[in-house]
Amino acid sequence: MTDQLIIAGVRRDALDGATFDVIAPATGEIAGTVAKAGIADVDAALTTATRAHDTGAWSTVAPTDRGRILHRVAELLRTHADELAGFECLDAGHPITSARGEVAAAAATFEFYAGAVDKFQGSVFPIADPGLSVSMHMPVGPCALIVPWNFPLMIAAWKVAPALAAGNPIILKPASLTPRSALRLGDLLVEAGVTPDAVHVLPGPGGLIGNALAEDRRVAKVSFTGETTTGASILRASADNITRITLELGGKSAAIVFADADIETAAAKMPGGVFDNAGQDCCARSRILVERSAYDDFVAAFTRSTEAVVVGDPTDESTEMGPLISTGQRETSLDYIGIGTSEGAEVVTGGAPVDRVGFYLTPCVLANVDNSMRVAREEIFGPVASVIPFDDEADAIRIANDSEYGLSGSLWTGDATRAVRVAGALRTGTLSVNSNSSVRIQAPFGGFKRSGLGRELGMGALDNYTETKTVYFSAG
Ligand code: NDP
Repeated sequence: MTDQLIIAGVRRDALDGATFDVIAPATGEIAGTVAKAGIADVDAALTTATRAHDTGAWSTVAPTDRGRILHRVAELLRTHADELAGFECLDAGHPITSARGEVAAAAATFEFYAGAVDKFQGSVFPIADPGLSVSMHMPVGPCALIVPWNFPLMIAAWKVAPALAAGNPIILKPASLTPRSALRLGDLLVEAGVTPDAVHVLPGPGGLIGNALAEDRRVAKVSFTGETTTGASILRASADNITRITLELGGKSAAIVFADADIETAAAKMPGGVFDNAGQDCCARSRILVERSAYDDFVAAFTRSTEAVVVGDPTDESTEMGPLISTGQRETSLDYIGIGTSEGAEVVTGGAPVDRVGFYLTPCVLANVDNSMRVAREEIFGPVASVIPFDDEADAIRIANDSEYGLSGSLWTGDATRAVRVAGALRTGTLSVNSNSSVRIQAPFGGFKRSGLGRELGMGALDNYTETKTVYFSAG
């Protein structure tokens, strides 16, 4: 049975009847069949989304009521947690325990914005002449929310929740590899009480319908997560319309391990920072910078912790790392491992396809990497960690900042004053000290340099989805 797309809150076939298959990365078999939106479906979605914006069908729902509805979305996500986690596990290959965490994170995101709706205030300005000068937030209009395959539901929630909280109609465009959890989210939005005309979910080829959304003047706002080159293409497509854009793009983040850190703890936790989601994580600390005096000890301990990562069937409760999303993604990782060794890096462990069906690859540690090598400069988006030695604090900062990206990173040190100094010097959007954390719903998330434009999450995300209007009331 085909999983239909959603226009104006209603499930239906693509207008031309096209469909495509979703492949389960753990088996290579068809997991489901989904309606494939085309240009006519984009037009239909934008027609109702524009109408919803013009009539205020959703934006005029009182903020407290919008908040109640978004709370209900969070509840429904929790009620349907097993089903939704099942999609992430089957379609994206996430270990089932991580998939449950993703659903919980999506629900928490709706909860945060449910509570934020009626606390997002305007301002009153002191002025010299008699009267009142105030600013207020207005919904920006139809929002195209374009999502990648690596955390399909969670990243969708990061965009959908603030866009709806701010009173906008949404057109959610999931990745073609993982569209099914987004479609269920669309159903749950309507079930919770979001105005149907404000809800559209369009699975289909990004180069066609993603691009069509980016270049359509009816789209007021694009929020995109994906590759840096795709982000650049969206900027070009939307430039003439001066569309509001938020971009969350690639990363090549550094974990810096100083010799004064607890090396065993850093090495034990490092697999979580670089191999989470099989390394298909924009925040992956895929460059691990280690002070030279601790380098050998760290590599030995990190090799042990990497070899302890349980790679296997994502439906198994004990699995810590599932397959990569596709055979192509695995080939890319293998190609980079070959490039690394040809440039002089040493494979200390891993980097081998697993002898079973599915797109598995054991997590790979590359030692003796220099920051000039391609494995240290280019985002691999697979389970490949490059361990790079450094001489002193200044050298660590120089190497960490010597990247075209600046999304995430971490510091491992026992010296609090050093942590303050180094954290201040790194050019990256988020940073954690003695942990792998990257994202907190309450705090801004996004990248420096070619890692993106703007910030998601936190109260600031509501600015992304609103225009600010200043009004002067004359008392003269
Ligand atoms: P892509 O950029 O290929 O795709 C992301 C989304 O954009 C998909 O829905 C895709 O559709 C769509 N798309 C593709 N081409 C276009 C286009 N020309 N115009 C508009 N939309 C388009 O990235 P991936 O899905 O491969 O995701 C992996 C990448 O995402 C990694 O490089 C990673 O760095 C980055 N990423 C960044 C994050 C961040 O927060 N900074 C978070 C997660 C990932 P379709 O699937 O149909 O091709």
